Amino acid sequence: MKLLAGISLHTRLTLRYTLALGIVAVLTLASYGLMHNVVDTDVLGAKLLNVAGRQRMLSQRVEILTLRAQAEAGAERQTRLMELDETLQELAQGHELLVHGPAKALDMTEDSPALSVLRTDEDGAEALYHGYIVQATALRTSLARGEDAVWPAMHRLSRTGDALLERLDKRMDGLQRLGEDTLKSLSALVLVLLGAALAVYLLTGLLLFRPMVAEVVRDREHLESLIRNLEIQASTDKLTGAYNRRTWDVEIRREFSKARRAGSNLCLVMTDLDHFKRVNDEHGHQRGDRVLQEFAKRLRQAVRASDTLYRLGGEEFAMLLPGTDIEQGRVTAEKLRLRVAESPLDRDVPITASFGVAVTDGNESPDEFYRRADQAMYAAKEAGRNRVEVSAKDV
Ligand code: GH3
Ligand code: MG
Ligand code: MG
Repeated sequence: MKLLAGISLHTRLTLRYTLALGIVAVLTLASYGLMHNVVDTDVLGAKLLNVAGRQRMLSQRVEILTLRAQAEAGAERQTRLMELDETLQELAQGHELLVHGPAKALDMTEDSPALSVLRTDEDGAEALYHGYIVQATALRTSLARGEDAVWPAMHRLSRTGDALLERLDKRMDGLQRLGEDTLKSLSALVLVLLGAALAVYLLTGLLLFRPMVAEVVRDREHLESLIRNLEIQASTDKLTGAYNRRTWDVEIRREFSKARRAGSNLCLVMTDLDHFKRVNDEHGHQRGDRVLQEFAKRLRQAVRASDTLYRLGGEEFAMLLPGTDIEQGRVTAEKLRLRVAESPLDRDVPITASFGVAVTDGNESPDEFYRRADQAMYAAKEAGRNRVEVSAKDV
């Protein structure tokens, strides 16, 4: 059961953690996508402005080349015309790039707003462009034929070029505005996303990590209290709450060495209920148990907090009193004896106890020390019970 609870907690924690990480990952990817878009828009704008500038330069070059071709003759004019051909070709490439380039370069869909700005023919730019090319080609043919008086044609070409460039400028302005608008809305979206990410972090902290930590802490506290209970169970006697024999074996040696090291006294009081067997026989085992519980309670209440009570077996108890000499030990035992004898331990069951007291400074073995206290207690039994006897060595 406990094991299952452990596994399900583990699964729960993992699932929650994965969910939180998943949300953060989605937001991160979305931000990346938006930033990508922002960069694309910027790159597109810069590229198109560059191409538009080049178109302006090329159209001026067309005019200059036609002027020079008119002024020259023979082979020089032929060279000029070849340059004019190249320039017109570059102009056509630039046009192609302006109208179709962005879609190819940036995988734009045909209905993208930037394309509609570039491809609109509301301003008649397309017609102007074709007119320009026709005029330039006609002019070139005239010049190739050796005709000189092409001023009106050149003037017309120049005017068409100006009109075309004006449309181009307007389109670039439109494109720039579109880019700015896109950037603005993308920036707003990035802000929204950032806010969402912060909210997720906050919510993750509040709704996932805080309860998670609380759960872990709760579990840990539960475990610690279980361990404490187990420790208490292992070291104490269930019926009386006194320390058990196992703890006694450890503690007698520990207190004994402490006293020897500190050069102080350690007092041991052994006690055993008198004729306890009769209680069981006459009143039953349950009443006997209650008598034992009350006996332990009175012993504990009559001594200091630093004094410890052990149930060594049956109705036999031992008390360790650190820093207590033989006279103080005897007085304490006498006090305990009176506490037991003064009133019945359980309703109408009057009972007494016999006590044996010994003190050590550590110059003997713990077993010897215990044996002396035990002998003193049996001396009290032999001397008529309900008595305190001190170990012969300590008198
Ligand atoms: P004495 O004055 O010589 O000590 O006589 P006594 O009857 O007390 O001594 P004895 O050792 O003959 O009997 C001890 C009795 O204690 C025997 C046993 O039934 C009883 N006893 C031991 N442990 C328990 C217990 O946990 N509960 C109860 N009810 N009785 C117990
Ligand atoms: Mg007894
Ligand atoms: Mg006994």
